Amino acid sequence: MSYSTIDIVLLMYSYARAEREKHKREKGVIWVTDLVRCPLKLVFEERYPELALQEIFKPSLMIGNLLHRGLESLLKDLVQAQGFTVETEVEVSKDVVLDDGTSIYVKGRLDAVLSRDLEKVAIEVKTSRSDRNIPQKHHVDQVRAYNWLTDSIGTVLLYITPSRITQFFIEDRMDTAEVVSRITSKKAPRYSWECGYCTYSVMCPNKIET
Ligand code: SF4
Repeated sequence: MSYSTIDIVLLMYSYARAEREKHKREKGVIWVTDLVRCPLKLVFEERYPELALQEIFKPSLMIGNLLHRGLESLLKDLVQAQGFTVETEVEVSKDVVLDDGTSIYVKGRLDAVLSRDLEKVAIEVKTSRSDRNIPQKHHVDQVRAYNWLTDSIGTVLLYITPSRITQFFIEDRMDTAEVVSRITSKKAPRYSWECGYCTYSVMCPNKIET
């Protein structure tokens, strides 16, 4: 079989690479996703950037990205008809000061924010192969961090799985003390299941078998 002159796969992965370049790490910045994952991954990512790059070639991640893109576009049509204003890929941030005086900028990127009158609701979309144990603790924690970062009344955590499409409304929010404690925590892994899915488990001294 020969390749066509147009290579869609190459275009998709070039796009994924460019997106990754756009969101390069900045000094003094912590993303909400870092608050809800093993802190050692950040260390390994900086030490072994080649392994980190390999992540973008995982089809499951690509499918998740495509679903996000499609859903964000569909949301615009669906909820605008209900009188909401919709913004997608909304970046939010807040400063925190650690106990040693270091100032850290915490950033998050919400899938969507819906506003109507003075009310704001955020939307976080999760795609998964299974609907077991949803809503998952780290997803709820992520959304609690978004609620701390924004003035929304809460976040709709929307799951799209092959056997269930459902949503949970999360009103609880982290406070600054919890955010600071998560930034400084050395607990690795942060959640017991993480090592089983971790790219860096091939070299990590903290790996645990689950
Ligand atoms: S193997 Fe486990 S402890 Fe090590 S970096 Fe990965 S998630 Fe963290």
